[in-house]
Amino acid sequence: MSATSKIEWTDSTWNPVRGCSKVSPGCTHCYAETFAERFRGVKGHPFEHGFDLRLIQDKLGDPIRWSAPRKIFVNSMSDLFHEDVPDEYIEKVCRVMLSANWHTYQVLTKRAGRMRDLLRNKLRSAAVAPHIWWGVSVENRQHGLPRIDQLRAAGATVAFLSIEPLLEDLGTFSLDGIQWVIVGGESGPRSRPMDPEWVRSIRTLCQSSRVPFFFKQWGGTRKKKAGRILDGRIYDQLPEHPAHAVVSPDERLEILEGLAVAGQIRAIRSR
Ligand code: SF4
Repeated sequence: MSATSKIEWTDSTWNPVRGCSKVSPGCTHCYAETFAERFRGVKGHPFEHGFDLRLIQDKLGDPIRWSAPRKIFVNSMSDLFHEDVPDEYIEKVCRVMLSANWHTYQVLTKRAGRMRDLLRNKLRSAAVAPHIWWGVSVENRQHGLPRIDQLRAAGATVAFLSIEPLLEDLGTFSLDGIQWVIVGGESGPRSRPMDPEWVRSIRTLCQSSRVPFFFKQWGGTRKKKAGRILDGRIYDQLPEHPAHAVVSPDERLEILEGLAVAGQIRAIRSR
């Protein structure tokens, strides 16, 4: 878990799963894969096994250790709904999110069909929890737009789109049932270009549908220099989210004991 994140729309990242595999053109230059593969074979490093998918049980209780409420991006280095993550493990992740309800969770997937199926059934209580936001990645029309329908069908209380990397003009599409839209261009040496008109078109759609719009970055080879100003301003709107109470160490300990996450109990006791 990272205490602070450089990702503009979140505060922290939490990775109870590491590693993934590619499913669509948005994955072509996956930053998580590039990062993870740098450390393949480095003994003792969290990414010693590169980008191979692994369940990280020791990380399961991490959000409970964090007393201050924050926005947490779940699995920035993986996809919670990857086919190799068992249903039971996803349920455990949801139990943590439901228990540590002083945070706001942002779960983002490209496996929207599996997410829909689970949120409609086994994960219903997590689907309707307002502090857990469920999102899909949308990079183009062919692969991305169908995910929006699958997300809508999941019946989440807070549903969002991460339209990044935006690879083409998406045209007009419905934002019914969507509470938040993030847009960004690809960054890195092989980044694919993003036309400002594609971004403006989505901004117009958000404005007419009254959906909060967050412009994350232009991207490109010099991401910092390109920045995130669109037509003279920064767009960093967020959905409304409930104020969260701060929880005492004793209460957190009780939650950890209830979830039987032993390593994390030791971490709280030693503070
Ligand atoms: S789904 Fe996400 S984490 Fe997985 S390969 Fe694609 S971009 Fe990377």
